[in-house]
Amino acid sequence: MRATAQHPFDLSFAVADNSLLVGGVPLARLAERAGQTPFYAYDRALLDARAAQLRAALPADIHLHYAVKANPMPALVQHMVGLVDGFDVASAGELKTVLDTTMPAEKISFAGPGKTAKELRQAAAAGIVVNLESAREMEALAKIGAELGLVPKVAVRVNPDFELKSSGMKMGGGPKQFGVDAEQVPHLLARMKALNLAFYGFHIFSGSQNLRAEAIMEAQEKTFELARRLALHAPGPVRLLNLGGGFGIPYFPGEQPLDLARVGEHLAGLMPAARSDFPDAEFVIELGRYFVGEAGIYVARVIERKISRGQVFLVVDGGLHHHLSASGNFGQVIRKNYPALVGNRVVAEIGGTASVVGPLCTPLDILADKMELAHAQEGDLIVVLQSGAYGLTASPTAFLGHPGAVEILV
Ligand SMILES: *Cc1c(COP(=O)(O)O)cnc(C)c1O
Repeated sequence: MRATAQHPFDLSFAVADNSLLVGGVPLARLAERAGQTPFYAYDRALLDARAAQLRAALPADIHLHYAVKANPMPALVQHMVGLVDGFDVASAGELKTVLDTTMPAEKISFAGPGKTAKELRQAAAAGIVVNLESAREMEALAKIGAELGLVPKVAVRVNPDFELKSSGMKMGGGPKQFGVDAEQVPHLLARMKALNLAFYGFHIFSGSQNLRAEAIMEAQEKTFELARRLALHAPGPVRLLNLGGGFGIPYFPGEQPLDLARVGEHLAGLMPAARSDFPDAEFVIELGRYFVGEAGIYVARVIERKISRGQVFLVVDGGLHHHLSASGNFGQVIRKNYPALVGNRVVAEIGGTASVVGPLCTPLDILADKMELAHAQEGDLIVVLQSGAYGLTASPTAFLGHPGAVEILV
């Protein structure tokens, strides 16, 4: 679909008879199949296409991991098994989801601050790699290993001494709750030598939602440099070097897609030195949003077209309780509209400016604020694009007690 005022980006979804298609199915039919609105729909073919783009752009020996927290829907995670080389989880709940797939345990890693003894025990028993975020986690895991009669696999998550510039969300550099400060890592590794732990390597994740190729290239370069310095203190060879990710997707007018080819070319230039310095290592890039964000939509039905003092409000049956990100309340500094359109009037003339609001009794419940949309009526289907990541599970679904949304994989 080509960009128009109603949808300012070129879209990956096809259009037929004025309707958006997901996996070849027209939207109204899909709503019948889902059995209700609101719903989320994720398109398998777009997930496949994104994985293929990444494989084509990145060096062949870069392993791709899916960061499950972006979208932990079990059917989607199952589908990702065939597309990626590993999973990164951030809770025992996500761990259960990935252990129910056929992904081998040693291709699964577990990051996140404050892992409890129970979570560490489950991780050790499962045989996955734990990304240690502190000395406490390391000591606790060694004790658990002794109790269970096994040797837990560990990598050290490093809080780098640099930042990923122009990142939507900084997750490294400066004081952070994530990882072990780079300058503390040698001390931690010295202590690790005395413990019965299998050292795998390093996890260096510096940030998220970045659209600037140069910033990602610079961070990757600095990540290799940091890993080289830290490897001098390691209790064994580096078998796993997780370079983080941070690849962003465009959400707002004026944003340009990440130049993936440039990132790939630059990384290819760094790989010969990396391979010779870390001959035993598997190199990993972990991505959440970039894999799934553009493959998903959120669909809600117009309950009422209401005019208040000249302004049009399309009141729909969904809202921030299903899609907090689109309401602007999930990490955004200034509220901007996610791309949205009337999904059953895709090629219609713009009908004017309208705001799409949900049924919650709070002014925060806005899905689109004064947007150019086709003239929508009761029963029409409003589609919020770029909704495959940080959607339903990143939303306060119990807030106000309205019915839930369903998720379908098409
Ligand atoms: C959240 C997270 C990711 C995924 O970030 P995206 O922006 O969705 O790609 C990857 N790694 C870690 C450690 C994370 O916490």
